[in-house]
Amino acid sequence: MTIVVGGGLAAATAVTELRAQGYEGEVTLLAAERHLPYERPPLSKDVLKGTKDVEAAYVHDADWYRDNAVTLQLDTRVTAVDTSARVVTAASGAGRLEVPYDRLLLATGAVPRRFALADEVSVPVYLRTIDDSLALRERLREGVRVVIVGAGWIGLEVASAAREAGAEVTVFEAAELPLVRVLGPEAARVFAELHRYHGVDLRLGAQVTASDLAAADVVGVGVGAAPSTELAEAAGLAVDNGILVDAALRTSAPGVFAIGDVANHDHPVLGRRIDRVVPVVEAIAASRAGVVISVDTNDAEVARHAIAAGAAVVNDTSGLGDPRMAEVVARGDPHVVITHSVGPPRAEKPAARYDDVVAEVRSFLLDRIARAEAAGVPRDRIVIDPGHDLDKNTLHTLELTRRLDEIAAIGRPLLVAVSNKDFVGESIDRPQGERLAGSLAAMTACILKGARIVRMHDVAATVDAVRMVEAILGVRAPARLEHNTHPTRNV
Ligand SMILES: Cc1cc2nc3c(=O)[nH]c(=O)nc-3n(C[C@H](O)[C@H](O)[C@H](O)COP(=O)(O)OP(=O)(O)OC[C@H]3O[C@@H](n4cnc5c(N)ncnc54)[C@H](O)[C@@H]3O)c2cc1C
Repeated sequence: MTIVVGGGLAAATAVTELRAQGYEGEVTLLAAERHLPYERPPLSKDVLKGTKDVEAAYVHDADWYRDNAVTLQLDTRVTAVDTSARVVTAASGAGRLEVPYDRLLLATGAVPRRFALADEVSVPVYLRTIDDSLALRERLREGVRVVIVGAGWIGLEVASAAREAGAEVTVFEAAELPLVRVLGPEAARVFAELHRYHGVDLRLGAQVTASDLAAADVVGVGVGAAPSTELAEAAGLAVDNGILVDAALRTSAPGVFAIGDVANHDHPVLGRRIDRVVPVVEAIAASRAGVVISVDTNDAEVARHAIAAGAAVVNDTSGLGDPRMAEVVARGDPHVVITHSVGPPRAEKPAARYDDVVAEVRSFLLDRIARAEAAGVPRDRIVIDPGHDLDKNTLHTLELTRRLDEIAAIGRPLLVAVSNKDFVGESIDRPQGERLAGSLAAMTACILKGARIVRMHDVAATVDAVRMVEAILGVRAPARLEHNTHPTRNV
C-alpha cells in the first residue's frame, strides 16, 4: 500500500501521476483538512475576492478519486510515522487509526511563520487554508481598517483584494522596497507605485507597532512560510529547512519519500533557476498587463513552474532535449518554440559539421514536432526556429537563411532570432553594438523567406522595418496615403 500524506497540490499531483504512469497498487491519501485536495494560489486572489468559488481551487472533484481507485480520507491528520514497522498513526473524526505502508510519501507542505507582536495584541489572519480565505473574505468590507504586516506576494495580494472591497489598507514592510529580493529594485519600485496608486498606504522601511495593530479591524500577517516538518522530525528523518531528499525524492528512511514545499531538494542548480525565473513571471502575470510571457528554458521542471506562474510560451533552444519537456508543455496550454541545436545546451560539443545544413535542421525539426505531438501537444501550439548560429558557423547560418523557405515549408509558424548574432558580425565585420543594420537586413531576408515571428533587441527599429516589409508584401496597408494622391495633379 502506498500512503500519501497531505492535501495540497503536491499530494494531489502525486496520486494523479501514480495513476497516469500506470501504477496499479493500492493508494491512500490522508489529508488533515476537510476539503478535497486543493491549490493555494486562488486563496489570495479569486477566492478571496469572491470572483471564484472554492471548488475552483480543487485539483480534482470527488469522483476523480473514486474513479481512479484512490482512497481519500479527509479530516485525517497523521500524528506519527514508525519507519521501522512501516506504519502511520492518524487521528480523524472517527478516532485513531493505524495504517501500514510499503511506501510513504510526505507532502505536508508549509505553515506560515508567526509574528509574535501580532499574536500578542490581535487575532491575526495567517492566510494558508480555504477556511482562512473564506473567513477573511467576509471581513473585507467598505471602510474596514486593515493592517498587513509584510509586503510579500501574499501580503500584497491581500492588500489588493482588500482595496477592491473598499477597505482602508496599510501595509508595513521592513525592507526599503516590496519583493525587492525576488524582483530587483526596478520592478519592485513599479509594484510599490502600483499599490500606492490603488490607495494602499505602503510604509516601507517601517516597523509596525502594537498601537498600529491594536487600531486595526483586521490584521493580516504575511512574513513567509516554513516547511511543515514536525511529523518527519518526530519520525527521525533527516531535516534541514525541509525534509532532505535526493534527486529521486528519497528521504533518509527507506520507503519514505517527500515532495512539495516540505521537501528540501538536493538540487541547488535547478532550485536557483526556478527562483530566478518564476517570481518574475508571476510578477508580470500579476500586473495583468495582458502581455504574452515567453520563458527561455531547456529544463522541463523550470518550464513546469513557469507555466504554472503564467508563462504562455516556452522557448526551448534544445528543441525538446529534456525528455519530460513535451509532456510538461502538453499538460499546460502554452505554445512551445522548438529550436534546432545539437546536443545538450552549454555542454562542450564537437565542431559544427553538416553535409547539408538545411536538410539536417529540417529533419531535426520534423522529428521534434512528432515528439511533441506524440506527447499530446496540439499542432497549433508548435512554433519552429532553425537556430541561427546555434552549433553552426557563419557559412552554415548564411546557407540556412538563404534557403529558409525549405524550413518554412514544414508548415509551422517560423521564428527567427538573428539580432546581433555572430553571423551578422562576421558577414559585415562589425562588433556587438554596431550590428543593427545587419540584423535588420538578416531579419528582412528571413521574413521574405517565410519567417513570421522575429526575436530582436532593438524593438523600435524592428517594428519600423517589419511594418515596411509588411507594406511591401501587401499584408498591411500603409499607415497613411498622401504622396501623389491629389485627384487632379501629382503633389
Ligand atoms: C495564499 C497563498 C497564495 C499562494 N500563491 C501562490 C502563487 O500565486 N504562485 C505560487 O507558485 N505559489 C503560491 N503559493 C504557494 C503554493 O501554494 C505552495 O507552494 C503550494 O501550496 C505547496 O504545495 P504542497 O502540496 O507542497 O503544500 P500545501 O499546499 O501546504 O499542502 C500541504 C497539505 O498537507 C496537509 N497536512 C499537513 N500536515 C499533515 C498531516 N500531518 N497529516 C495530514 N495532512 C497534513 C495540510 O493540511 C495541507 O493541506 C501560495 C500560497 C498561499 C498560502
